Amino acid sequence: MTFLNHRHSSFLRSITQIVTGALLFVAVVSSAKAQDEKPEWKAGSAAVVITPEEPTWMAGYASRDKPAEGKFHDLYAKALVLEDLHGTRMAMITLDLIGVPRSVRENVEQRVEQEYHLAPASLLINASHTHSGPELRSRYLLVKRHDAKWAALADQYANDLEDKLVALIGTAIEKLAPANLFYSHARAGISMNRRLPTPGGVTNSPYPDGPVDQDVPVLIVESPDKELKTVVFGYACHNTVLGLYYYCGDYAGYAQEYLEAEHPGTIAMFMMGCGGDQNPYPRSTKEWAERHGRALANATEAAIIAHRTVVHGPLKSAYDYADLEFAPPASREQLEQDKESTNIYVKLHAETLLDELATSGSINTHYSYPVQVIKLGSEILMIALAGEVVVDYSLELKRRFGNTNVWVAGYSNDVFGYVPSLRVLREGGYEGGGAMLYTSLPGPFTETVEERIYEKIDELVQEVSTR
Ligand SMILES: [Zn+2]
Repeated sequence: MTFLNHRHSSFLRSITQIVTGALLFVAVVSSAKAQDEKPEWKAGSAAVVITPEEPTWMAGYASRDKPAEGKFHDLYAKALVLEDLHGTRMAMITLDLIGVPRSVRENVEQRVEQEYHLAPASLLINASHTHSGPELRSRYLLVKRHDAKWAALADQYANDLEDKLVALIGTAIEKLAPANLFYSHARAGISMNRRLPTPGGVTNSPYPDGPVDQDVPVLIVESPDKELKTVVFGYACHNTVLGLYYYCGDYAGYAQEYLEAEHPGTIAMFMMGCGGDQNPYPRSTKEWAERHGRALANATEAAIIAHRTVVHGPLKSAYDYADLEFAPPASREQLEQDKESTNIYVKLHAETLLDELATSGSINTHYSYPVQVIKLGSEILMIALAGEVVVDYSLELKRRFGNTNVWVAGYSNDVFGYVPSLRVLREGGYEGGGAMLYTSLPGPFTETVEERIYEKIDELVQEVSTR
């Protein structure tokens, strides 16, 4: 620029100053605008300890032969309530428990509708499936001929849990405050398929070549001044590192604990995915539970700092039941024979079905299966399925609805047993139908199971998309 004389350059300087000033002015105005912009959401979250006050029978492993002896850390129920600009609300509850008993879901649903006018379709209850929590099925304890006091304790626990969950949602509603929502995700390599094919059939063993879904979907809730208030993170894997006699949230419990320690004042919530056929490996020690928890917390931290999608409203939800069918149950003659089996589980299952025959004249072969779809703007499509859903479902649903961020939760609203895909059903084994032996259900589903569930999901996705 040597050809410019002093006057020219000072002229240019003043032009530059004017332009810079103008840009600065624009910047100030637009940042003021960003601050003035009303957040699109209100959010409130709360947590409550649900560790049993006295030792109970523990859930998840039929082989346990004594009640709990202590705890590694507390079990929690946590709730996040969201409200969009139209005032539409939803409540998401996560539990450090083996499952969600249907009766608990139904009673809480009724009570929160009455007390807080929360629509049933807008209530999602998800359980982490920790195998280090209390047994919730009093009937199962009685059938297994444990002392009746354990069954009474399980019923008492479920009643207290309902009260706590209703109050918890009330607390989260009271805490509703302006918030911004973001979606992000990362990966964690904790899970491995656990259905190893062998010449003798599928066995429960690490299967590194089997299907997995190692996505860690994350919902970030921030105050308008960018304070992290709540983080919900998902993963599709059994919480079965531990099988001891101590209450513990397993790897998901540690992941929540680490995130909350890292972000004081934040509530971290774990949402179980389609981990029916997924196990964490290695397993069995507290140290491994902590390590896997650390890995999942790290993945969640990575998602928090990664590129985020702003989640807009509106909030829409739909809830209905798919009609699933069980294969024809064993004949009365077969059941009478099984009643004499030396295998205690064959015997107990036969007795249960014979009781049902005696009291209702037939064995019910239909299951009314809850399906829930929640849509947050066009950014998150959350599909919450009941039961121990295998990973094929989340992989397929992500393929089907891949034009948005699809978050598939299993273990939601009613955890009654395994939900195989057609592939897993045909392969057989534990998740294919074998595990029904440990329930009061008649046996495996029919081959329509997967298509019936997808039909209902399609219907509900359509409903939340057009409404
Ligand atoms: Zn399970």
